[in-house]
Amino acid sequence: MTLKLRATKIVATMGPATSSSEVMEELVKAGVNIIRMNFSHGDFDFHLNNINTLRKVSKKLNKHVGIIADLPGPKIRIESFENSFINLILGQKFILDTQKEGYGNESWVGVGYKDLPQYCKHGDILLLDDGNVELEVIEVQDHKIITKALTGGVLSDKKGINLKGGGLNANAITLKDRTIIEFVTEQKVDFIAVSFVSKGSDLDLVRKIAENIDSRHIPKLISKIERADIFKDKDTLDDLLQASDGVMVARGDLAVEVGVGAMLGLQKTIIEKAVKHNKFVITATQMMESMINSPTPTRAEISDVGNAVLDSTDAVMLSAETAIGNNPIRTVEQMVKIAIGVEEHVSMKRAYKNINDKCTTLNQIIAASAVNIANTLNDVGAILCLSLSGETALWLSRYVSSVPIIGISNSFSSARFMNILSNVHPKVFSDDNLVLHFEQRYLKSLVNELLLDGIIKIKHKIVLTKAFNISNPVKTKTNSLTIHSVEEVLSSVY
Ligand code: PGA
Ligand code: MN
Repeated sequence: MTLKLRATKIVATMGPATSSSEVMEELVKAGVNIIRMNFSHGDFDFHLNNINTLRKVSKKLNKHVGIIADLPGPKIRIESFENSFINLILGQKFILDTQKEGYGNESWVGVGYKDLPQYCKHGDILLLDDGNVELEVIEVQDHKIITKALTGGVLSDKKGINLKGGGLNANAITLKDRTIIEFVTEQKVDFIAVSFVSKGSDLDLVRKIAENIDSRHIPKLISKIERADIFKDKDTLDDLLQASDGVMVARGDLAVEVGVGAMLGLQKTIIEKAVKHNKFVITATQMMESMINSPTPTRAEISDVGNAVLDSTDAVMLSAETAIGNNPIRTVEQMVKIAIGVEEHVSMKRAYKNINDKCTTLNQIIAASAVNIANTLNDVGAILCLSLSGETALWLSRYVSSVPIIGISNSFSSARFMNILSNVHPKVFSDDNLVLHFEQRYLKSLVNELLLDGIIKIKHKIVLTKAFNISNPVKTKTNSLTIHSVEEVLSSVY
């Protein structure tokens, strides 16, 4: 039996339930590949502590756990109530007021976003608290939005407001986001997730702010797809994908904006397009929601995680489940089991890229050919990909294969990027001249290690992709592919 490596990656959100180094260590051991710092909650000190703790834990466990800083963005929220919540009665009149100061009560509440009235008109539906409370706009009077409650129930402080069908056009990058981008770039996080983006230039702005802080280390940018407007024409999603390194199917806000009927179809469209554009994709929100309190996932949650895997997502994400849940580690363990179980059925996975598709660069055609060989030649145990920046590993991982990709680099930062990619398992050798020295110094011991770990077998072959430059041995763009038997590598003279 070979050991089956899990292809699908797990992103876990940090919060009070997961901030100690003991819990973080358990999370990483259980299988978390990437952690997410949600800057909608917690101050800079809280996040800095978590970043430092995670880095110590990763080093101790010799794992390349990446960090996503998730920006709050222009989420429009109500202010607070005298008693921190109210009970809305079905059909009652309720006013949102963007000018009145003070605590709200049963008849009104404040809203910090001054422009909200200009986006609302008679008949619009406002969705509060991720859709748990629906308000119908009766009339807009200057700074007051007069509504009627279409649902009864509890409404508490600071809940978010969405407009059904989208169209709340607050700028994606707020002043607060700016200070967060600067802070997290200084802290060298690996990814920044940008909330409520609506166009590619939102990402360009984030990149520019980061570049001013540290032009040598710009985090990879993730567009959170959660606005209905993105789908109003056929080009906006492509525009966003082109400007991003990856995307998140941010189903919490997305489902509120587009309605429950449209969410799943859009999830599939977003994943398909992301893979075609050579971008990575995370599927997020409420994947294991019931495990916040319960020790086992619902059957619907098992299907949800499994189907995202079959849709070809790179990663599945946990939010409240790990941030404030009662069973953070168990939740990760169960998610790992679901992913590994469904990956057995790799032939059911949606393949959005075809190895015969046109390629524009040499490393792309090498990647396509390597996957073709791995999927058609007998007994290929692994693809070894010397990918200093992680780019060739990204190309390789866009194709469906059950053969694991070992992404080899001399950069820890590239390894953390590769750790979000489906089916890529990063490995670092700290050698400035890694490409030149790889076969002589590292190949044999790496193959031996894969063999000892049970990932490959002695009868296997490996496919090796790397840069091979006749005139200048330090130039590093992948242009070569070789096939070796494990036996041959182990008996090499090096
Ligand atoms: P959030 O983003 O948790 O920051 O809102 C994810 C989502 O909307 O699903
Ligand atoms: Mn969101």
